[in-house]
Amino acid sequence: MSVVRTRFAPSPTGFIHLGNIRSALYPWAFAKSNQGVFILRIEDTDQDRSTQEAVDVILQGMKWLGMAPDEGPFYQMKRIKRYQEVLEQLKLQGAVYPCYMSIQELDALREKQIENKQKPKYDGTWRPQEGKVLPPIPQGVQPVLRFKNPKDGVVSWTDKVKGLIEISNEELDDLVIARPDGSPTYNFCVVVDDIDMEITHVIRGDDHVNNTPRQINIFKALGHQHPTYAHLPTVLNEQGEKLSKRNGAKAVTAYEAEGYLPDAMINYLARLGWSHGDDEIFSVEQFLSWFDLEHLGKSAAQFDEAKLKWVNAQHLKLQSKEELSILIKPFLNQLGVESDARLPDMCGLLKDRCDTLVALANWASVFYKPVEPNAEELSKHVTQTSRPAITLLKERLEIAHTWDIPTIAQIIKEVLAQTGLKMPQLAMPVRVLLVGTSQTPSLDAVISLFTQKEVVQRLSKA
Ligand code: GLU
Repeated sequence: MSVVRTRFAPSPTGFIHLGNIRSALYPWAFAKSNQGVFILRIEDTDQDRSTQEAVDVILQGMKWLGMAPDEGPFYQMKRIKRYQEVLEQLKLQGAVYPCYMSIQELDALREKQIENKQKPKYDGTWRPQEGKVLPPIPQGVQPVLRFKNPKDGVVSWTDKVKGLIEISNEELDDLVIARPDGSPTYNFCVVVDDIDMEITHVIRGDDHVNNTPRQINIFKALGHQHPTYAHLPTVLNEQGEKLSKRNGAKAVTAYEAEGYLPDAMINYLARLGWSHGDDEIFSVEQFLSWFDLEHLGKSAAQFDEAKLKWVNAQHLKLQSKEELSILIKPFLNQLGVESDARLPDMCGLLKDRCDTLVALANWASVFYKPVEPNAEELSKHVTQTSRPAITLLKERLEIAHTWDIPTIAQIIKEVLAQTGLKMPQLAMPVRVLLVGTSQTPSLDAVISLFTQKEVVQRLSKA
């Protein structure tokens, strides 16, 4: 069997969002799970709309997710010569012809067809045919080149997602494959690239289904078999509209900045249109060993930010405290925090209550930066009753010789016994004073992660 070769072929005309990156994830996973080759091709021929910033987001997003291409990035703008070469070949074969129909004439034709309730389509005026006399060539008009689409028969392929698709050639008109200035058009470049890059499987969004029969006919004209196709259903946003930048989709890189883990992102995106039984949480390695085209979903998937957060939280829990302490460093830096050897233990203690690295960094920062206790909680918990116990606790902690959880737990117990208070009556105000809120993991563990000096200082504010 030939080596699997897949590609991600984004157009850098807007910042790629999660729907786009899912179209990279599946071909990447399919190549990896088959020891194949994954190629990145930047389709930048729309020079008015393509930007370097958009290319950068693609590269950065893929790097973050660990989806490095095995070949590329290839840029279509750098392959123009190659497209011209293949155009010449098609000219020699008689598979293309010049068409001089003006925009006005095309518009008039279209209007007439709509009036007659026909499907608008180029009528083949300039298509040469034996015995046919073509109209006189107009002066000073640069023609477009049209591809001679077969006139009859059907184009069919068995789509890995959609099953058998058959399109009658009658429905397809002769596609423009080069503009008046000679520049090649989109569908043509895709076919030349897919041939040259020896792509075996095209896995892409189903907004391209209509292009596929046209592309297959060009493959045939060039004497090549077309690849296997899998057209992925759309990703919808939370309002049920197609995910797009226009209706609020974020660039994929925004999720890195918001503290999502690459593995969680891959896990979430993998499930957004593919399944492996009921498995919800899995590692990248598992995903790559399980991925196949047979279990791609057939209906549109809906993005759900709350679900993504939940998946991220599950992956945070699975990370070791040491790994997390490395991952949150950049976020702590942004908060102006210089961390120290206590950080891994903080991560271990706090990871279960955080759903992003940002949340974890915010939590860890309270051990390093002064906190502003929540005023309402402060007046609720630091009362006449609790104040003497807090002071006693502070005094006892100040003279503790060992600073670890068992020692601190013992001191808390003694203070409770001595003052007759119940645990929450002491724990709540102490938490508010130390970290700003009464919701924290167990008090002795929290106290142990502060320096002794810092605890005394914060408790003095009771
Ligand atoms: N450049 C196209 C896009 O961004 C993808 C083309 C393809 O995958 O064939 O939608």
